[in-house]
Amino acid sequence: MNSENLVTKDFKYVWHPFTQMKEAELKPPILIERAKGVYLYDDKGKAYIDGVSSWWVNTLGHSNERLNKVLYEQAQTLEHVIFSGFTHRSAVELAERLIALAAQGVSRKHHCEAVNLLSELSLESHGTGKRRETPKAANPLTKVFYSDNGSTAVEVALKMAYQYWSHHGQPERSKFIAFKNSYHGDTLGAVSVGGVDLYHKIYKPLLFEIYQADWPYDDNCEALLKAHSHEIAGVIIEPLVQCAGGMIMYPPEVLVRLRELCDKYGVLLILDEVATGFWRTGKMFAYHHAGIEPDMICVAKGITAGYMPLSATLTTQEIYDAFYDDYETMKTFFHGHSYTGSALATRLGLESLKILEEMDIERVVAHKAEVLRAELEKFRELQHVGDVRQTGFIAAIELVQDKTSKTPFPFEARIGQKIYERALELGAVLRPLGNIIYFLPPYVITDEELKKLTDIAYKAYKAVF
Ligand code: PMP
Repeated sequence: MNSENLVTKDFKYVWHPFTQMKEAELKPPILIERAKGVYLYDDKGKAYIDGVSSWWVNTLGHSNERLNKVLYEQAQTLEHVIFSGFTHRSAVELAERLIALAAQGVSRKHHCEAVNLLSELSLESHGTGKRRETPKAANPLTKVFYSDNGSTAVEVALKMAYQYWSHHGQPERSKFIAFKNSYHGDTLGAVSVGGVDLYHKIYKPLLFEIYQADWPYDDNCEALLKAHSHEIAGVIIEPLVQCAGGMIMYPPEVLVRLRELCDKYGVLLILDEVATGFWRTGKMFAYHHAGIEPDMICVAKGITAGYMPLSATLTTQEIYDAFYDDYETMKTFFHGHSYTGSALATRLGLESLKILEEMDIERVVAHKAEVLRAELEKFRELQHVGDVRQTGFIAAIELVQDKTSKTPFPFEARIGQKIYERALELGAVLRPLGNIIYFLPPYVITDEELKKLTDIAYKAYKAVF
């Protein structure tokens, strides 16, 4: 079938995500035929730099030779097996690796440093008054529960948290605290804890109730905990960067404070590392910058370097133990998906971790982040740039109507979309979030390619304004 026919058939048969299909008829999807490294190639051979890592999943470039090889090898031996009553090598080895890497990033020293830093910040004025002087007793993550995308990893965490309290005789703890602008996925539990009207508002009648905190800095998080902790199972937050909510960034000390609040009021702390995990913020997990120990984390996206759907919810021994009993006590966690623990996906996860560690990824990300930071300086003086911000290898440019008052462009102006379209013409994928243009490229991007990507963004901006 030729390219034109394919696109015609796409309209006939396919419904694309986050896409107004009426608009798509006027602006047909680009037909990608192959990809290599940071480049996607369309049917006419035109190249596009994948500036958003294909929805933040691709860490090691497209069509990576080592990953291709293990994918093939794994397919020759075992592609998938039911994950209840059966197990396999790569699922076990990946779980072991994830637990080890999660633990590596948590040091008592880090925690104490972060606590000291906290006391120097204005956050202190929101303090509980009874802040613990010494860190919480070690409660590391010890168990991995697999599922197959970020949303399901969050669903697992929410259900587990609720059931944990239920097994402790507190089924009334059925609510969560989540934050304004948060995004945790598109399934209904994940949408319930979401806080972006654009994606979530319409589904309100279908959702369970939560308490929404304005922002971790605000007293209202503590106020909510103080008033309602008896009915709260946990607090869920995206560590360091609220990604889909607009690449909103905050410092690690906020996580330290949140850990303290969760300890003080006896609720679980769930960190959604789906977008921030696997060195995206400069460390293996974003919470490693804070040196805290969460009760659960959700990971997905970069876990297989963008090859296969896979996710995991990591929990502490304490949570696991609450489910561990005779079958008749009905404490089993009755949850699972057809592709749970896929052999292909877990094998890719293992190999991708191996490659990342061999390339000394922490050093690579630190270097790339600096190159990106320097490249983005030129945007600061532009008339419609209200903010340029960066955490690790995630950077965002916020476009505003008025630089001084930071008045946003109206939603209908579609400024981000216009820049995206110009950037496509110039050879880069910079899919925006409203009026936020962001850069989240694969780690294998070269300094020159990074420069090319930001130059395209600059030219696209100039073309639109
Ligand atoms: N949590 C966060 C923080 C995310 O950014 C996303 C996806 N953008 C999800 C969860 C949902 O992941 P998925 O799209 O794989 O379901």
